[in-house]
Amino acid sequence: MTEEQFLVLAPTGRDAALTCRLLERADLQGRVCRSLEEACEVLDREGAAAIMVAQEALSTAGVACFTAWIARQETWSDLPVLLFMNVQNLAGARPLSLSTLAPLGNVTVLDRPLRAVTMQSAARSALRARRRQYAARAELDAQRAAVTQRDQFLAMLGHELRNPLAAIELATDRMEHAGGDHARYRDILRRQTGTLARLVDDLLDVARVTSGKISVAHAPIDLGELVARGIETQHATAAAQDLRLTYAPPPEPVIVRGDAIRIEQIVMNLVGNAMKYTPAGGTITITVERDREDALLRVRDTGVGIAPEMIDRIFELFAQVEGTLERARGGMGIGLTLVRRLVELHGGAVMVESAGLGEGSCFTVRLPLAVVEEVPASPEAAAAAPAAGKDVLVVEDNLESRELLVELLTDSGHHVASAEDGPTGIARALEHPPNVALIDIGLPGVDGYVVAREVRAALGERVVLIAMTGYGQPDDRRRAFEAGFDLHLTKPVDLRALRRVLGGP
Ligand code: ADP
Repeated sequence: MTEEQFLVLAPTGRDAALTCRLLERADLQGRVCRSLEEACEVLDREGAAAIMVAQEALSTAGVACFTAWIARQETWSDLPVLLFMNVQNLAGARPLSLSTLAPLGNVTVLDRPLRAVTMQSAARSALRARRRQYAARAELDAQRAAVTQRDQFLAMLGHELRNPLAAIELATDRMEHAGGDHARYRDILRRQTGTLARLVDDLLDVARVTSGKISVAHAPIDLGELVARGIETQHATAAAQDLRLTYAPPPEPVIVRGDAIRIEQIVMNLVGNAMKYTPAGGTITITVERDREDALLRVRDTGVGIAPEMIDRIFELFAQVEGTLERARGGMGIGLTLVRRLVELHGGAVMVESAGLGEGSCFTVRLPLAVVEEVPASPEAAAAAPAAGKDVLVVEDNLESRELLVELLTDSGHHVASAEDGPTGIARALEHPPNVALIDIGLPGVDGYVVAREVRAALGERVVLIAMTGYGQPDDRRRAFEAGFDLHLTKPVDLRALRRVLGGP
């Protein structure tokens, strides 16, 4: 490796050959240069571990050239210079002092006559020092690459956030200025805030999932039913893009153990991608079936397909098909990374098949089936006990969220009380025990976990406690259940899920 070679400048060819031989005996590699100018060229072209130069080789022009090279080394580099001199004769020979050596950089003076072992051990030290510099260079390169990747990621993130924001801004403007029916603009707002929320969730999740800081519940779930519910909202989006979205639920329940919210995330990511990467007129077919001990979820599309060389890479973080039409479709290359990790957390596997570009893709998720006797008993079903017109308590410190939730729940026929902090929430719950309490976790002073514990302790099982969190803390779902919550909803709260829990319109 030329980066580990020693450049040797000796007074005579014989001296140079001797030095190279001694280096070789110490398992080091020498390379003879006839002048400092030549050494500079070799340094530029091939690099070197160090330079060994005899006093006689220090011609004025050579020193000027070499000093310039030393001055323009990269920051990680401090080329070791081993200078062979007759220190005793310094005065008689050339007026060399330590200060005149300074421009030559990292100089070690070796006094002649020199013993072989002294020269060899000095060379070895120089090589060790140089290797440390190479390691620093590698680290610097890695840091630079990370910075570039981060910058690209931020640029992409900005782009991804700007698109829905622009649509929201326009729709809001139209609502202010256009007369008549605003249903269309409301749909746009709902769709675009949904996109934003998913983006933020994915971002936060991918960090937690890849660092292993996430745990999933293991409740029995009917996969067929979950998919049906999940894609309910997607039909309108598909129709708007002139896509056919088909799903024929399996004839019997297909029960897996897992975390309904996470499995829905898997499904939505795959279906979202299928819609993103399928041009108008295409078809997306979703199926759920049993395959011996496993449940199989397939999302097949007739879209752009995946080139064979990309097939193995698309599940990697930030992997994207660069510079093609696909890039124009947006996305940040985190969805499939999340999908794979979430599937693995459920003890399953995900794979993709595509016959190539333009040939469509098929993603298959394999999850272990739950043992037969288990029946899905979703907390949602339990909570739905008394129908409409429930007593609901909302504990939320954000004024706008609180007011909107109260409005929405009141409109749905419930009797709603609210509190803006933990202690007030506890007091209200004890004064008028609600059927359901919706409690924000990040409350000032006393957090939502404490509120849940106290309310649960005082009122027992007759109240349904629902946590609302912003996905901030690792393991927040587990903590929520430990604190006595029955259900955990992430913000922005999925209003459909909330309506399902509470009953009513
Ligand atoms: P992105 O946000 O870019 O969609 P993903 O992690 O979800 O990130 O997907 C990574 C890449 O895999 C995408 O950029 C796309 O090139 C490819 N890909 C994912 N799903 C499909 C699909 N259904 N058809 C074709 N290519 C796909």
